[in-house]
Amino acid sequence: MFRLDGKVAIVTGGSRGIGRSCAEALAGQGATVVINYVRGADEAQKTVAAIEAKGGRAEAVAFDVSDMTATEAAVADIAKRHGRLDALVANAGIAHDNLVLRVKEEELDRLFAVNVKGSIAAAKASIKVMMRAKTGRIVMLSSIVGEMGNAGQTAYAATKAALLGVTKSLAREYASRNITVNAVAPGFIDTDMTTQIAGDMKDAMLKSIPLGRTGRAEEVAACVAFLCSDEASYVTGEVLRVNGGMLMG
Ligand code: NAD
Repeated sequence: MFRLDGKVAIVTGGSRGIGRSCAEALAGQGATVVINYVRGADEAQKTVAAIEAKGGRAEAVAFDVSDMTATEAAVADIAKRHGRLDALVANAGIAHDNLVLRVKEEELDRLFAVNVKGSIAAAKASIKVMMRAKTGRIVMLSSIVGEMGNAGQTAYAATKAALLGVTKSLAREYASRNITVNAVAPGFIDTDMTTQIAGDMKDAMLKSIPLGRTGRAEEVAACVAFLCSDEASYVTGEVLRVNGGMLMG
């Protein structure tokens, strides 16, 4: 089940955290994975090496998703070199927490440029290739805060809510081409992004998670791998929550 043999997938921001786990999960199911990174070539190469050590296929490609021209060119080049593109995991994202009274214009612009424009740019370039093949899988990394909101995360939550609108719009726009577009909305997952969260805030958050613990990047990646598989062929425009029960319904 959920095998991806012969398929090619791109994971943006795939050198660490949830992106790295997604790259490992997709490669583990047989896909050739292109790991995009913007900084830290070492980290990206280590992820490639870890995948290859397990017999998988991967390569690392640098581009900044907030640069739309560079992203479109890189995705087109990847598809041309591999002769296909079956899945895109739009995972690259940044978080910047601030009370709205302190939010600066540059912060807002950067968050939207990476999280929203970057995901749309990668999807646009991928869809061009997938339309010709009349098949494709796109998964957007949203967040629980895009649905629930969170004090101190107005700007970040806005970008993650925006991705839900992007997901559903693209799902409708390309359903006739057999391209599915879904979002995964993780809750509180242990990664570099969440290590900065203060202890007392973390304790309060843990109390609101029915499963009583934070999530692991691999647990998000397993859901992403399912949505990229042939078995998920009738799932589109959906938001798959991976949050230990923190938000239901
Ligand atoms: P992370 O900071 O560990 O990883 C983010 C990755 O994105 C990094 O590899 C980073 O280099 C890359 N990136 C940032 N800007 C980029 C750019 N301009 N171009 C290309 N790559 C860029 O964070 P993570 O926790 O692994 O988060 C991955 C995704 O999941 C993000 O979109 C995040 O918003 C989302 N998410 C995370 C959590 C969580 O609890 N960790 C919860 C909900 C959603």
